[in-house]
Amino acid sequence: MLRDPYYLGLVRYNGETFEGRHEALISRELFERVQEVLDQRSRRGQRDRVLTHFLKGMLFCDRCRQAGRTSRLIYTEATGRGSLRYQYFLCRGRQDKLCDLPHLAAWQVEDVIERHISTIQLPESFLSRLRAFVTETSMTNSAQCDSFTPASPRR
Ligand SMILES: [Zn+2]
Repeated sequence: MLRDPYYLGLVRYNGETFEGRHEALISRELFERVQEVLDQRSRRGQRDRVLTHFLKGMLFCDRCRQAGRTSRLIYTEATGRGSLRYQYFLCRGRQDKLCDLPHLAAWQVEDVIERHISTIQLPESFLSRLRAFVTETSMTNSAQCDSFTPASPRR
């Protein structure tokens, strides 16, 4: 449906595309962007996808710290059975077999951070940065075209 050149003001007839009598409903640029997104979504195993989490890059492993190392926690996602997505953090040191910190479910980490944050006074500059992070992250997620609905064709 969204691949129909009708949206560009074109009409397909006998395998050829003609200028239609109707106005283009969306710009060619938007049409091509939509095709790109559709192609991406139909492609399987998007390994090059950049994963984002508002705590990404901000957490460090305490087990490693106690052992005198500095290891960042890495944010990652895995797809399980029934295409359920699991979001979790794991210690960078674990990848090098230096640390035995188990994988931590992202929701548990968020929960702990939330409770921790509520017990301390953070400088306003940090809070506004955190808020910007959260807004940016949720905007990125919702911009992924799931909610794209074209205007219904005028006839
Ligand atoms: Zn560790």
